[in-house]
Amino acid sequence: TTHLVWFRTDLRVHDNLALTAACRQPNARVLALYIATPEQWRQHQMAPRQAAFLVSHLNALQQTLAARGIPLLVQTAETFADCVTVIQALCEAHNVSALFYNYQYEINERQRDVAVERALSDVICQGFDDSVLLAPGSVTTGNHEMYKVFTPFKNAFLRRLREDLPECHRAPAMRQSGALSVPNSPVIVDYPQQPFDAERFPADEQSALTRLRDFCQHGLARYDADRDFPAIDGTSRLSPCLTLGVLSPRQCLHRLLKTHPEALNGGTGAVWLSELIWREFYRHLITRYPELCKHKPFIGWTDNVQWKTPDAAFTAWQNGNTGFPIVDAAMRQLNATGWMHNRLRMIVASFLVKDLLIDWREGERYFMSQLIDGDLAANNGGWQWAASTGTDAAPYFRIFNPTTQGEKFDKAGEFIRHWIPELSAVPAASIHTPWQWVEKANIRLDYPHPIVDHKRAREATLAAYDAARKGT
Ligand code: FAD
Repeated sequence: TTHLVWFRTDLRVHDNLALTAACRQPNARVLALYIATPEQWRQHQMAPRQAAFLVSHLNALQQTLAARGIPLLVQTAETFADCVTVIQALCEAHNVSALFYNYQYEINERQRDVAVERALSDVICQGFDDSVLLAPGSVTTGNHEMYKVFTPFKNAFLRRLREDLPECHRAPAMRQSGALSVPNSPVIVDYPQQPFDAERFPADEQSALTRLRDFCQHGLARYDADRDFPAIDGTSRLSPCLTLGVLSPRQCLHRLLKTHPEALNGGTGAVWLSELIWREFYRHLITRYPELCKHKPFIGWTDNVQWKTPDAAFTAWQNGNTGFPIVDAAMRQLNATGWMHNRLRMIVASFLVKDLLIDWREGERYFMSQLIDGDLAANNGGWQWAASTGTDAAPYFRIFNPTTQGEKFDKAGEFIRHWIPELSAVPAASIHTPWQWVEKANIRLDYPHPIVDHKRAREATLAAYDAARKGT
C-alpha cells in the first residue's frame, strides 16, 4: 500500500496529524507532496516574504522527511482548481491507496479539497483538524451556534481544555526503507520572493521549536507587562510559524503548560493562551461564516459606508508618510520586515479606516501583500475588528487617537526613532507631535506634516458610519 500525505499549511514532522496517520501502518510506503500554486497565491496577494519563508521551510521539510525515509515531491499547479489533475496523476502513477491531509478552513481551499476528494474515487481520503486546538464547530453556545463575541467563546474554550487537552503526537519513526539520500537540488517555486530575517523568524522546524521553548521559559513571565510596547521584544514572534504550520497550536499549548501549568486557570501564561484562542476564534468564525472569506463585512450595514477613494493618502499610509510618527514607524516596520507588532496593527488599521475613511478591505489586502505571517482568518478578523464591521468589534464610535496611542505605547519614542531617523533630533516631549515642535523651533524637518486633522477626521467618520447605519 502507498500512502500520500499532502502538505499545505502544516510544514512540520512533529505533531502533524495527517503525517502521523499516514505513517501508522509500518509497512506502507509513504510519499509526501507539496503543490505550489503561484497564480492562486497572486490572487490571494501572498507576500513575497511569506513565499521566501515557505520555500525555506519546504527545503528543511524535504530534508527532515528524507531522513525518515519519506520523499517530498514538490509540484506546481497554477491555481487550486489545477491541483485536482496533479493529484490524480500522482495517485495513478504511484498507485496511491490513501490520501492524508490537514484541513484548511478558507473557502477556496475547502472547495479545492471537495473537488479533489470527488475526483479520487478509488482513493481513501482522510482530513484532520490539525491547525487548531479544537475543531471548528465544536465550541458552541447552548443553542449549538457559533459564539459571536470572544469572551464567552474563550470561557467555553477554556472549560473544554480543562476537561481534556488535545494530544501532541511524536514525529514519525524512520520508515522500513531507511533514510533517503537528501536531494541536493533545492526546491524551486515560481513566485516573487523577498528575503526575510532568519534571526528574527526561524527558518526551519527545529529552530521554531527552540524559539517556542525559549519564549515559554524566559519570555512569558514578562509577556503581560511588555506585550503592548513595540520598542520591547516582548512577544513570541511565532506567528509566521503558526501560519505555515511549522508549529502546531498543540505544541504551543503543551510547551506553555509545561512551564506554566497555572495558565489554564488564569495564572502566568493565561494572556498568551488567550491570544492563541483569538487565533482559534477567527478560524472557527470563517468556517461558520464563509462569506467572511469573500470580502463581506460581518455587520451588513457597514457595507453602506461611503469610503473615500484610495488616493495619495492611501499611498502615504502604505509608505509610512502620514505625518503621525507611530503610524509611520509601524508601516515602515511592516515594509522592511514583513511583520508588525500587534498594538501597531490595531493603530494603523484604525488610522486607515477611521482617520482616512478608506475601506478596510484596502488595508486588509495591503497587509496580506506584505506580511510574512499573512493569514486570512487572523488578518480579516483584525481588520474587521478595527473597522467595527466584525463580530466582536469595537463599537464604531470608539476611535483611536494616533497621537495618544503613540504617547501611551511608545512614550519616549524609542520605536519611532528606530524607524524614522528623520525624527532623531526631535526632543522626547515632542516626538509624537513633531509638527508643533517644528513650528515653535522654526526648524525644517524632512518629515511630512500630518495629512489629516484627527479631530475633524473623527467627526467625518462618525457621520459616515451614522449615515450608513441609518441608511441615509
Ligand atoms: P504573540 O503575542 O506571541 O501571540 C501568540 C500567537 O497568538 C501569535 O503568533 C498568533 O498566532 C496568535 N495571535 C496573537 N494575537 C492574535 C490576534 N489578535 N488574532 C489572531 N491570532 C492572534 N496575525 C496573524 O497571524 N496573521 C495575520 O495576517 C494577522 N493580521 C492582523 C491584522 C490586524 C489588523 C490585526 C489587528 C491583527 C492581525 N494579526 C494577525 C494578529 C496579531 O497581530 C499577530 O498574530 C501578532 O502580532 C503576531 O505576533 P506574535 O507571534 O509575537 O504574537
